[in-house]
This record gives sequence, C-alpha cells and structure tokens, in this order.
Amino acid sequence: MRENGDEIAKLITDECGKTFEEAKAEMVRAYENVEVACGMPHMGKGEFVEDIAPGIDEIMIRQPVGVCATISPFNFPGMIPFWYLPYALAAGNTYIVKPSEKVPMTMQFIFKLIEQVGFPKGVVNMVNGAKEAVDGILEHPAIRAITFVGSTSVAKYIYATAASYGKRVQAQGGAKNPVIILPDADMEMATKIVADSAFGCAGQRCLAVSLAVTVGESKNEFAELICDAASSRVVGYGMDSGVQMGPVINQASRQRIEQLIGLGAQEGAGVPVDGRGTKIKGYEGGFFVRPTILSEVQPGSEIARTEIFGPVLSLMHVNTIDEAIQLVNSGQYGNQASLFTTSGNAARRFRYEAEAGNIGINIGVAAPMAFFPFSGWKESFFGDMHGQGMDAVEFFTQKKVVVERWPKEWTRKF
Ligand code: NAD
Repeated sequence: MRENGDEIAKLITDECGKTFEEAKAEMVRAYENVEVACGMPHMGKGEFVEDIAPGIDEIMIRQPVGVCATISPFNFPGMIPFWYLPYALAAGNTYIVKPSEKVPMTMQFIFKLIEQVGFPKGVVNMVNGAKEAVDGILEHPAIRAITFVGSTSVAKYIYATAASYGKRVQAQGGAKNPVIILPDADMEMATKIVADSAFGCAGQRCLAVSLAVTVGESKNEFAELICDAASSRVVGYGMDSGVQMGPVINQASRQRIEQLIGLGAQEGAGVPVDGRGTKIKGYEGGFFVRPTILSEVQPGSEIARTEIFGPVLSLMHVNTIDEAIQLVNSGQYGNQASLFTTSGNAARRFRYEAEAGNIGINIGVAAPMAFFPFSGWKESFFGDMHGQGMDAVEFFTQKKVVVERWPKEWTRKF
C-alpha cells in the first residue's frame, strides 16, 4: 500500500472529495494499524499458570472467532476498514469488508494489492452494496462478529440486529464534538488547530470539532480569528495545489448542510461567515460548501445538538469552566471533547470530567494512534471493545481456558 500510496490517495480524493494531502494522511493511519497488528504474537499471547492448585495447570489461549465483517462509512474509505482488518487476519479469522456504496473504488484498488499478498482464497473478501448487503451480513449464520462505523441511527440498528442473531458486535456512531477555549489558551495556535479540525475533510470527520465554547475573555479574540481562518480557507478540487478543503460527499449532503445553516439562523444564531451557495470556477457541478461560522448559538437549540457533518462551526459562550464542562457533558454524543489551555490544572480536571471517549488537550482531532483503542462514549458508540490495538485483539479472538490435572506421581515416573 505504501508503494501505491499516491494512487490510493488520488482515488480517495476523487471519490470522497478530501484533498490529496488529507487522503495521504488518512492512509498513514491505515499503515500504522498494519504495523501494530504485526505485534499479534505478543498481543495475542495467552496465559499459563503452573500448579494453580497442586498438580493443576491452567492455560488461557486465544482462538479466532471465525468469519468477521466490517461495514464502513464514506468519510475514510481507506483507513476505517484497517482499524479492524489487520487484527482480524493476524488473529486467524477470515474477513469481509463492506465499503460504503458512496466510495467503492478505494477498497477495490486496495483489494487488488491484497490479492498480491497471496492469502488463501476466501480469507479476505469484499462485498459491495448498501442496506441489502448489510442485512445479508447481519443475518448470515456463518458470520460471527461485526464491526460498524457510521451514523448513530444505523449504528443502533446494526448493534441490535447483530446481537439478536447472537453475533459479537461493536458499532461506532455519529458525533457533535465540542471544544472549550479558556482565556489562557494560546489563541493563535488554538484558532489554527480548531479551524483545521472543523474544516479539514470539509468537516466530514467523526472527530471534527463542531461546537466551540469560549470561556470568559476568550470570546472576542477567538471569534475574530476563527472567522478570518474560515473565510480565508482555499476551497476547490483536492488535487489542485494550494487547495485546503474539498467538496462534501454529494448533493443531498450539501442540501442538508445548507438547510441546517438556515435552521441555525432561524433559531437566532448569527452567520458571520456563510458558505451557502458556494460555486468554484471550473467545478460548477461540485458539491462545495465553504467554511461557515454560526455565532451566539444557544445551548439546547436544535443546531447545537444535531450532527451537521459539514464545514460548519457553531460558537457558544459561557463565563466559567464549570459551565463549559457542563455544556460539553450535556450533549447526547461522546466521541471527542477538546480543551485549549496553558493550565495543567484545568487540563487535568477536563481529562477526568469530560464525558467523551477521545479527549484532546490542545489537540483538534484527538485520533488515537493504532496501539490505543479508537474510543467513543454515549450515542457515539455501542458495544464494549473498540477498533485498533488490544481492543481489536480482544474483539477478534475468543478465549479458551484449559484446566489440566498432572498428579505429581505421574510426573515423577519420568
Ligand atoms: P451511514 O450510517 O449512512 O452509512 C454507514 C454504512 O452503513 C454504509 O456502509 C452504508 O451502506 C450502511 N447503511 C446505511 N444505511 C443503512 C441502513 N438503513 N441499514 C443498513 N445499513 C445501512 O454513514 P455515512 O454517511 O457513510 O458516514 C457518516 C457518519 O459516520 C457520520 O455520522 C459520522 O459521524 C460517522 N462516523 C463515525 C465514526 C466514529 O468513529 N465514531 C467514524 C467515521 C464516521
């Protein structure tokens, strides 16, 4: 995959819309998971206790679960299957990938590369399609474990249906990720990082920041800088040099995002930077939405709660860190929460109190590296074991415990 990295990245840019640099960065995360899964002899090793009672040995061994499948979303066509696939295979399972029907090409290409590896036939498989293909996977008696990444409503359906067929299942859902800006933050750094998080991949990252909560005096300076960052972002075709943000996935998504910006305005938010109606010269048919800022968004409003999944950042303001943490924890999702500060004390408190599975301190996209689980709480995750690292090893293996009796008098015979 590394040798063909540029070709894979171009496919991602062309079918998903993100920039070439973003697509290359996505694939680095896929390679990283392959490298970590190569540690399976260590990560997947069992336990052995000799003489747990006189003459009794106890052994825990991990064995494969069987046929496993992954149903993935459109926004990281190359990376997300790799949160699972390398671990599932290294643990001895066979594997089925069902890519999003919106982005089938990247995995087609990667599967041509996988073919060259020389797995026995049937070990690594791909099925294309939408709901019908997913339901086939959910119902098939030979499939023992399913991982899903996508929107919350579908995640709930997958979790409940797969469980009703007695399958092992984990389902990552949607998000509405808040960031708190404390007055002691390095404001220029914070703004740059928050803009990259909110508008990178056109806001179509599950870890994209979409609510910025300023505390006390940080309000005006942050608002001014983030509006500048939003309006100066270069939007266009992701293969063109200098382009910082591509289009959203399709026309339906663009319409939905524009309607939600309208809803925010109806609910009383300001729209100091408005990306509706974007047209890019030379790409007039493209589904572009320029970065958008909604200001004075009210807690409890629909726009403050709904996942937009586009380049739209809502600004909210509170007076204290207590109010800010309360606001963060009042959301239904728990994929990521971030804090910008130079205070170790505030950071440590936030790390402990914030109700989200991935926490960023002075980080805009708190994507865990491959040896850590890709977490998620509340409506952002259904299950217990996550993708990546030891969680993936647990998920793709079943434990067997062997108890053996070896009376002393037998051993003494040798
Ligand atoms: P989606 O839920 O529409 O689709 C995801 C997958 O489910 C696709 O493979 C699709 O074919 C299938 N699917 C769609 N509708 C279905 C149905 N009714 N029954 C059965 N299967 C169905 O999600 P999407 O639009 O591709 O991706 C965006 C969503 O994914 C966002 O909500 C985003 O937050 C979320 N996401 C979450 C994470 C995470 O780690 N939590 C990561 C990436 C994306």
